[in-house]
Amino acid sequence: MNEVKQKIDHLRRVIDRLNYNYYVLNAPSAEDREYDRLMAELTALETAHPEFADPNSPTRRVGSDLTKEFEQVRHRYPMLSLGNTYSEEEVWEFVARIEKEAEASQAAGYCCELKFDGTAISLTYENGRFVRAVTRGDGTVGDDVSANVRTIRSIPMTLQDEGWPAYMEVRGEIYMPHESFERLNAERADIGEEPFANPRNAAAGTLKQQNSAVVAQRGLDAVLYAVQSDEPVAASHYETLQRLKIWGFKTSSAVRLCRSVGEIMDYIHYWDTARHELPYETDGAVIKVDSIKLQRDLGATAKAPRWAVAYKFKAEQAATRLVSVDFQVGRTGAITPVANLEPVRLAGTTVKRASLHNAEQIELLDIRIGDTVLVEKGGEIIPKIVGVDLDRRPADSVPFRYVTHCPECGTGLVKEADEAKHYCPNATGCPPQIVGRIVHYISRKAMNIEGLGDETVQLLYNNGLLGDIANLYDLEVEHLVPLERLGQKSAENIIGSIARSLEVPYARVLFAIGIRYVGETTAKKLAAAIPSVDALMAAPREKLLEVEEVGEKIADSILAYFADPRNVAIIERLRRAGVQLEAVQRAKLSDALAGKKIVISGTFEHHSRPELKELIELHSGTNQSSVSKTTDYLLAGAGIGPKKLETATKLGVRIISEADFMHLIDDAGEGTENAGKVLEIKQQTLF
Ligand code: NAD
Repeated sequence: MNEVKQKIDHLRRVIDRLNYNYYVLNAPSAEDREYDRLMAELTALETAHPEFADPNSPTRRVGSDLTKEFEQVRHRYPMLSLGNTYSEEEVWEFVARIEKEAEASQAAGYCCELKFDGTAISLTYENGRFVRAVTRGDGTVGDDVSANVRTIRSIPMTLQDEGWPAYMEVRGEIYMPHESFERLNAERADIGEEPFANPRNAAAGTLKQQNSAVVAQRGLDAVLYAVQSDEPVAASHYETLQRLKIWGFKTSSAVRLCRSVGEIMDYIHYWDTARHELPYETDGAVIKVDSIKLQRDLGATAKAPRWAVAYKFKAEQAATRLVSVDFQVGRTGAITPVANLEPVRLAGTTVKRASLHNAEQIELLDIRIGDTVLVEKGGEIIPKIVGVDLDRRPADSVPFRYVTHCPECGTGLVKEADEAKHYCPNATGCPPQIVGRIVHYISRKAMNIEGLGDETVQLLYNNGLLGDIANLYDLEVEHLVPLERLGQKSAENIIGSIARSLEVPYARVLFAIGIRYVGETTAKKLAAAIPSVDALMAAPREKLLEVEEVGEKIADSILAYFADPRNVAIIERLRRAGVQLEAVQRAKLSDALAGKKIVISGTFEHHSRPELKELIELHSGTNQSSVSKTTDYLLAGAGIGPKKLETATKLGVRIISEADFMHLIDDAGEGTENAGKVLEIKQQTLF
């Protein structure tokens, strides 16, 4: 076969594979720059050899995110990608082409925007009401993810003002702010899940979750930047954005109308630096012809509009020397290699450590101690190593040898075929795993034992007072007082808090004991379907698989946990200590809050937010997520969201403290058969 044809076929196959990993699995297997380089190479070959053209080539199609799990909906107007470039020169060429094609009367202005690094979404509104949300899919047909999108609070369900077309598709980007991304990855690491590679993949992966309750917890946000409709909305793109804002959509505040290439370049240069301060990820600037008429005249290719181009920022990189590699052991035994570097300035900070992810990545890049490595800062806080400067490799360097034994306890490491990470299997004997599991057990979302932090747990472990989670219930004030930093009062508080943890319901206990892959939501589903630990221990694999959210990986992990007699022994000691190991149906305690809608915001002195939510339900009230005219009370804690406070004040919603709230449920309980229970419940830790 012709050599060029072979090369073209090969590139198409490779790019199809990369597309699948990126769009469907949300786990990219190459760097974006490398992908863009392969795509440019294929485009160049196809342009030089039109005889090998193929409408199915990835150069002609929008990368598809379609999956089997969602209903598919046809877009009334196609959803395209964007032409992109890393070169300023090509932006100049783009403008020159537009100026040439535009008639003199249409002298082109350009709307510059940030390129949000998330996943594209199309929101359909009919007569001012939200109807559905669909992903880009293959550009023609997308996945209906309405249930998930409804959980994103900044997306309006009913539009404000007037003048919106009777039918329109509002286009924009769903993204995950840095703060949510860091929190999500920390939670994933906590239960032994692979972290998401970057905020874009996290946003796309979250949007394709089957359970919208999970989506609601993950803190997605959205920004809207286009309208498609048969009725004209505005004469320019810039005005369209103003309209969207008036109708209640969140639009970007970083939009600038530019009249010349010079102004466009200023915009690009400004944001290339200022982007590091943004609370979300942007990977470039999008330059769009402002006139809608001119946009129409210019049209689109099968893949992208001809009136817009994305200039992609180069990720900031720095070269420095790799001094050594540490191996950290997580709570689940996962080993994470961390590079120690000669300090170097990068994107406004000094970098001394970088993530290396896993053995495979080290091998792929052939990273060696003493190498000059390229460090890059993407969406994550810890920078990563993306390459090696082979020209500067010392003559005596040797290939890197990954650890074979746990650096903490010396046990031989294991690696499952389908997992990227190595694990230390010595769950009950390896110090960081033991301490990590106790820290997880006492955490706010688990048993909520206050006063005990990571350092105190480490201290108690070092002093031989805590060897596992069940030991917590053997602790006494006298054990704690002699320890550094702990006085009589703190010791009493800790012991009190441990005692209160006996009231924590079974679902949270199940999360707290730390079965790998069993996160908060899975634990709730498991507790609802199999309501006691004894039933769970006896449950065969098929029964576990029947539970919503439980797939093979989780089922096997549960079976492995209970197959270990050391874990069963811990459960027995927890039982003897009085920990809740079966679900209790909670009857309503009073009607004190019947008909009342309550919003909770901030943090509270005596209860966690989930506990307060539970109390509201137990007293017949309804939890609301955002303040509206129908809200009766805003239960305000420390650090309450300023927006909520402002809305509540404006709407005249009563703002109450934790103490006011306790009075509300307390007063109503009086004189009823539940009065005693109400008081009791006030002191308990509820779910
Ligand atoms: P893209 O993400 O480069 O650009 C198009 C998208 O930008 C639009 O669909 C829209 O969702 C988004 N966007 C954000 N802000 C916007 C704004 N202000 N105005 C208009 N659109 C905006 O293109 P794509 O087709 O989604 O993905 C292609 C890119 O994805 C590649 O260039 C590559 O960088 C990356 N990719 C990487 C791999 C990999 O293996 N690493 C695989 C596939 C794709």
